[in-house]
Amino acid sequence: MHPFAYTRVSDTREALGAGRRGGRYIAGGTTLVDLMRETVERPETLVDISGLPLREVTATERGGLRIGALVRMAEAAAHPKVRALYPVISQALELSASAQLRNMATIGGNIMQRTRCTYFRDVTADCNKREPGSGCAALHGHNRSHAILGASDHCVATHPSDVAVAFAALEATVHLLGPDGERRVPFAGFLLRPGSTPNREQALQTGELIQAVEIPAHPRPLKSGYLKVRDRQSYEFALTSAAVALHLRGGVIREARVAAGGVGTVPWKLPAVEKHLVGERPSEALWAAAAAKAADGARPLQHNRFKVDLLSRTVERQLRIVGGTR
Ligand code: SF4
Repeated sequence: MHPFAYTRVSDTREALGAGRRGGRYIAGGTTLVDLMRETVERPETLVDISGLPLREVTATERGGLRIGALVRMAEAAAHPKVRALYPVISQALELSASAQLRNMATIGGNIMQRTRCTYFRDVTADCNKREPGSGCAALHGHNRSHAILGASDHCVATHPSDVAVAFAALEATVHLLGPDGERRVPFAGFLLRPGSTPNREQALQTGELIQAVEIPAHPRPLKSGYLKVRDRQSYEFALTSAAVALHLRGGVIREARVAAGGVGTVPWKLPAVEKHLVGERPSEALWAAAAAKAADGARPLQHNRFKVDLLSRTVERQLRIVGGTR
């Protein structure tokens, strides 16, 4: 581990000042400390923000929910409002990491976590994300776990977060605070596809701090859930996953929100699937026809062709679980 300075801040003004001077924010530290140990990350200064007042889950005036950036994964998963209104969020969190990690890691840190591409963590391998311009060892290496959607010639790594898939499905907004004040970024624009700059992963400006993630109001009742397909039953990242939320009235699907994980360089919203569902009545045939559109535009690599079919089957199964059939 490279030497670094450590400072703990107690208010946001102090945090922003340290962030503006190039300090790296740290809270749970469950990703960053690992990467520092492996010398993938070499921050000169860590700014500990875990004492900031960003640990509340609150209902918004608009009928949605605001989850503070420093709420622990386990706290968010167990929160009565989250469980009641958005089970898809609770389930995505509970299927992530391990109990110990969920007790430490925060919501803000979760959406900021970096890829689990093994070449990214191997400092002897070529990796444009870690070292821009060095190449991408995964393109012609072992790429079974990599992306089939949203990749570029510069990077094919997936985003590892589960709850980010639920946030993408529910069209959340990220609340940021920076030297120029507050701003809100739609979740769809917060995590960036790699393009030619895979080292740039979020739409954050220097010194900006995540304050909260806001879930907008959706028509109620909203049935929702998260399905994760992986090589083993716990403590494993998704090969594919599906976050589904449906609002039915009079036996007809009035609203559909669907996103996939484990397949994209960012959590992958599925508008073609959503469009196919709205205005229809649940049926086995509907789930199959909608899910058949899930992998539209996929460009698999040598070792992950299986994900194309697996993605459609994951989405179909989760539509059936959430929407039922008649
Ligand atoms: Fe690096 Fe991305 Fe290639 Fe993995 S896929 S080696 S993270 S550039």
